[in-house]
Amino acid sequence: MRYIAAMPSPGREWSTRHSVQAMAHRTVALVNALTTGDPAPAEIARILREHGEADPVTVTDAEVREMRAAARTLREVFEAAHVDRAAPALNALLRQAPGPLRLTSHDGTGPWHPHLDGHDDAPWPEWFLTSSALALTILLWDTQRPPGGVCASSTCQNVFLATGGGPPRRYCSRRCATRERVATHRRTHP
Ligand SMILES: [Zn+2]
Repeated sequence: MRYIAAMPSPGREWSTRHSVQAMAHRTVALVNALTTGDPAPAEIARILREHGEADPVTVTDAEVREMRAAARTLREVFEAAHVDRAAPALNALLRQAPGPLRLTSHDGTGPWHPHLDGHDDAPWPEWFLTSSALALTILLWDTQRPPGGVCASSTCQNVFLATGGGPPRRYCSRRCATRERVATHRRTHP
């Protein structure tokens, strides 16, 4: 929703802040925070700021609860191992979006980008669900692959974004990949 602070000279940063990749990365950060822990509103506000929302960013307890429900639904898209399953999961989310699809620049304070929420000042939960579903939809459209996955580490619940080409990614981070590699090594070389 909300307004992205106007920058004196619109540059690359200004336009990429609303890129599909940026929106998808923000989705991952919020889904992980909201579904693998019990974040306080201040922590969610911090993540929103970190991903470009301009102050004042205020999130209430009730909004965090609703965002958590939205995050659980979004996880279903990441849990889909095949594009043919990710697409219906996204369709279910898109049906919940107030829409219609529109372009907004938040009164010229940001680059033009699409929204599916009811209006530019929609509450955080509605904005989170619709902007996330939109970003994941575009990624799926563009790659014809599931837009992301769930970390294969047994001790990690994080979701991640799929990388471009190459073999599908299995872990959320280098840290998880290394830990699992070490564990496998210990199992096979006792
Ligand atoms: Zn992980």
